[in-house]
Amino acid sequence: MKTQKPRTRWIPVLVGFALISGLFYKFGERWLRALLLYLSTAVWARQLISQLPLAWQVAGRFVAGEDIDAALQTARTLNGKGMRVTMDFLGESVTSTQGAFAARDEILQLLDRIHESGVNANVSVKLTQLGLKIDEALALDNVRQLLIRAQQYHNKVRIDMEESDVTEATLQIYRALRDEYGFGHDVGIVIQSYLYRSEEDVRQLVEDGAWVRLCKGAYMEPPEAAYPEKGKTDASYVKLMQMMLAAAARQKGVYLGVATHDDKMITATKHFVADQNIDPDAFEFQMLYGIRRDLQQTLVDEGYRVRIYVPYGTAWYPYFVRRLAERPANLWFFISNLLRR
Ligand SMILES: Cc1cc2nc3c(=O)[nH]c(=O)nc-3n(C[C@H](O)[C@H](O)[C@H](O)COP(=O)(O)OP(=O)(O)OC[C@H]3O[C@@H](n4cnc5c(N)ncnc54)[C@H](O)[C@@H]3O)c2cc1C
Repeated sequence: MKTQKPRTRWIPVLVGFALISGLFYKFGERWLRALLLYLSTAVWARQLISQLPLAWQVAGRFVAGEDIDAALQTARTLNGKGMRVTMDFLGESVTSTQGAFAARDEILQLLDRIHESGVNANVSVKLTQLGLKIDEALALDNVRQLLIRAQQYHNKVRIDMEESDVTEATLQIYRALRDEYGFGHDVGIVIQSYLYRSEEDVRQLVEDGAWVRLCKGAYMEPPEAAYPEKGKTDASYVKLMQMMLAAAARQKGVYLGVATHDDKMITATKHFVADQNIDPDAFEFQMLYGIRRDLQQTLVDEGYRVRIYVPYGTAWYPYFVRRLAERPANLWFFISNLLRR
């Protein structure tokens, strides 16, 4: 086995650090984030990075594995630590009907396997993986079939929220399934606090007594659609969280997933819950697999419900690069690992 001398081992680390520092110096964190979000959708970058075996090894920090078995194993481990799970078969922006059907079939199988294995997990899906960009009716029909299968097992399907150009279509499909097909709380939706429209959407969802996940939002959005400033996104997050945890909302049937790793958002939620005397079983915290594991366990130990979003599959590139964009230190970790080999 080839071993590096202790001194030379640090060279790649220092090169990585210099590279990231240079990017920061030149562009600032906001621009670095924008660059990464651009790279998350660029086909050339996906082709380049996805082929690097080392990239997969680093991405593995955020992804449970390549197949259902790996995802179930992770779910079992998390369940053993007192955490619930939502599973995500990675993939998005599918461009062929065949691809959309393949994703649907995989998720149907996932629902079967969750049921057979007895793990405590529901599933999260992306409509662009199920054909939304090809034909809205195709995506609607695919999710409907997932919901029919989930219902057989008393399980649930949550529709993730993607870029703002599909927000309206996503909400329409969610409403159609909930109302026309009577799936009620078996189908859930996600609200992103960075979007200006979210307050109005939340008002409607509160009226409907919906099953909602609240997150900040992970995509590159124009200033016409979303707050460019983190401070305003955070303020919006707290406001929306309070709207959906308020007694009136809970009486209507709202069940909220507070999805964040941000200490400030978590503390604001804990304070609101304590002030309003809200039962810890009346909502849940949600976090992504591999991010702030210490905090995930602390919340469980404090008696809160915690659900972990567990992605699996081979189409990990866009998901992984969005995680890099959320925290530049992850990019540093990624580059230093690549250079170290
Ligand atoms: C369960 C779940 C489901 C989600 N579903 C969606 C969805 O459907 N649509 C959507 O647009 N977005 C989704 N997101 C992503 C979300 O919108 C944010 O991009 C992401 O959660 C980062 O925001 P934050 O609230 O953690 O706060 P931030 O302000 O981004 O981060 C606060 C702190 O959390 C830690 N942290 C945050 N991100 C990372 C990371 N990647 N690696 C390491 N540490 C990190 C850091 O300590 C950071 O300082 C989801 C997030 C979660 C937790």
